[in-house]
Amino acid sequence: MNSENKYCPVCDQTSADFLPYGVASRPGAFCPQCESLERDRFSWLYMQEKTDLFDGRDKKVLHIAPEPCFEPRLRDRLGDGYLGVGFPDAGAGEKIDLMNINYPDQSFDVIYCNRVLGRVADDKKALREFRRVLKTDGWAILLVPITSKATYEDPTITDEEGRLKAYGKKDRFRRYGPDYVDRLVEAGFQVEVSDVEQIVPPQGIRKFGLVEESGRIFYCTK
Ligand SMILES: [Zn+2]
Repeated sequence: MNSENKYCPVCDQTSADFLPYGVASRPGAFCPQCESLERDRFSWLYMQEKTDLFDGRDKKVLHIAPEPCFEPRLRDRLGDGYLGVGFPDAGAGEKIDLMNINYPDQSFDVIYCNRVLGRVADDKKALREFRRVLKTDGWAILLVPITSKATYEDPTITDEEGRLKAYGKKDRFRRYGPDYVDRLVEAGFQVEVSDVEQIVPPQGIRKFGLVEESGRIFYCTK
């Protein structure tokens, strides 16, 4: 095996290289075996190493808009406790209104939500809902891309064209800045923020196809 081969922790497979991905074509982003992206691989490593997700004990896990690379693997490892739900407008199956989650208080041990909050009109309400349905000793990983110096949203922008211009995508309601963490705190979470370099050693960063821009993990507890 070539020592420069890439290894994907999500699908547990080795590839000669990861592939370019995205409009701006990020090199080495996409796992050809399971289609994971940098942030997916970073999240997976984080959950393996820093959380109790895979300790074999029964858990209720709420996964919003499941990534195809995660869903079958989480379902397989977590069994009946795993609940993957779609976001309105996305795919088939159970849908969830994040501003009014149809589950009682303290329903879940774990919540995982990536790349969705920017598409929720009132994300602050969604964060309070996440906290409400999370068990007292549970944890949530709630991720957004940080693409701005400060969170930017303009409630006077109400059409798709305006959103595309302001936020880069027609279904977005805002761009997030590093102050995203303040929204988590305002919702009542305690937050631990981790960058790639804090979790993965340099040789791992290359091998797993991670980059500085793999994003930050926002690990939230009550
Ligand atoms: Zn993979």
